[in-house]
Amino acid sequence: MIGGGLAGSLLAWRLREASRRVRVEVVVGRRATPDASAVSGGLVRGFEPDPVACRDAADSLAEVRGDARLREGGGYREIGSLYVVRAGVDPAGSVRVVEERLPGSPVVVDARVLRDRFGLRDPEGRAVGVVERHAGHLSPARLRDSALAWAADLGAEVVRADAVEVRDGPAVRTCDGAERRYDVLVVATGAWTPGLVDHGGALRVKQIQYGVHPLVLPGVGAFVDDDTGLYGRPWAAGAFLVGMGGDRWDVGPGEAAPDRALADRVLAAVRRRFGVVGGPPDRLVASCDCWSSPAGLRLRPVAGRPGLCTFTGGSGGAAKTVVAASRTAAGELLAAR
Ligand SMILES: Cc1cc2nc3c(=O)[nH]c(=O)nc-3n(C[C@H](O)[C@H](O)[C@H](O)COP(=O)(O)OP(=O)(O)OC[C@H]3O[C@@H](n4cnc5c(N)ncnc54)[C@H](O)[C@@H]3O)c2cc1C
Repeated sequence: MIGGGLAGSLLAWRLREASRRVRVEVVVGRRATPDASAVSGGLVRGFEPDPVACRDAADSLAEVRGDARLREGGGYREIGSLYVVRAGVDPAGSVRVVEERLPGSPVVVDARVLRDRFGLRDPEGRAVGVVERHAGHLSPARLRDSALAWAADLGAEVVRADAVEVRDGPAVRTCDGAERRYDVLVVATGAWTPGLVDHGGALRVKQIQYGVHPLVLPGVGAFVDDDTGLYGRPWAAGAFLVGMGGDRWDVGPGEAAPDRALADRVLAAVRRRFGVVGGPPDRLVASCDCWSSPAGLRLRPVAGRPGLCTFTGGSGGAAKTVVAASRTAAGELLAAR
């Protein structure tokens, strides 16, 4: 495996936990640029409008809540979540998926509840939201480090070196000049992946930005508003992490740069949507993640290169799906042996 971010670390742990007979080596880079897992907002919930993403998210959250190692290893905090769906989207199917896995957690609410309880402004009164009691945020950096330590405890070998080239075989050449050969090589290097493996355009990199603003949104925990593109969560007393979807594509890791105009648009949208005035960000985080189409963190064989796969493509949302996605990927790798 190459990459010791959230995806690679969880997959290495899953593999060794599922079978001690399989040898696992993780090549963990020593990059100056923080990875996505280091800066991720860590919002986790079960509900997603897309039913496939919803299954992964709800399975992940149910496992995190039910397993003390994951809960504590990932620093999970249950503060509840609100998801305002895009006009015309019926949330019922996904709500059933969440209810099956997290009974009693999701409730569909109408524009009146959104206004009275969360202060949401919706002049047409047509907004629909999904409120989840069992949701919140975790620390992807902490979960990544915990999982790598669990994998090492179970006998996975951790090699601290940058992969320089992915070769057929499959094999990897590392910065110390060594060539390492494997039966199967999984490239789980997030936004660095398109630079290491040609996946025929299936993977792209996009910038993600959020700010930590002096801002109070009474009654609001973790939230996503698909109408405005806003998302966020409380950060500390009097401070809120808020972001909004951007459009900077093909930004290499290390090239992400704060977009001040986007931070201004975020504040304007918060004012319009919640009627609350926030201040400019005390901290502006710009980083990037690997996008795939269809979106989702999963194992993808690389065409024409036997034994080579990627495990990335979380598309800005793998913190909430990685626990289930890594279990699925480990099962697929072991079944293919
Ligand atoms: C700003 C931001 C906010 C986010 N907020 C959320 C959120 O609230 N909720 C949510 O669900 N998701 C969120 N995400 C998405 C989620 O955090 C990412 O999808 C996830 O962390 C990606 O993990 P990864 O392991 O694929 O990639 P990364 O964490 O980027 O890890 C890739 C790893 O590969 C290593 N690597 C790269 N090149 C090499 C090489 N040549 N040799 C060896 N190692 C190498 C890197 O050092 C790195 O450790 C956010 C992402 C960002 C950027």
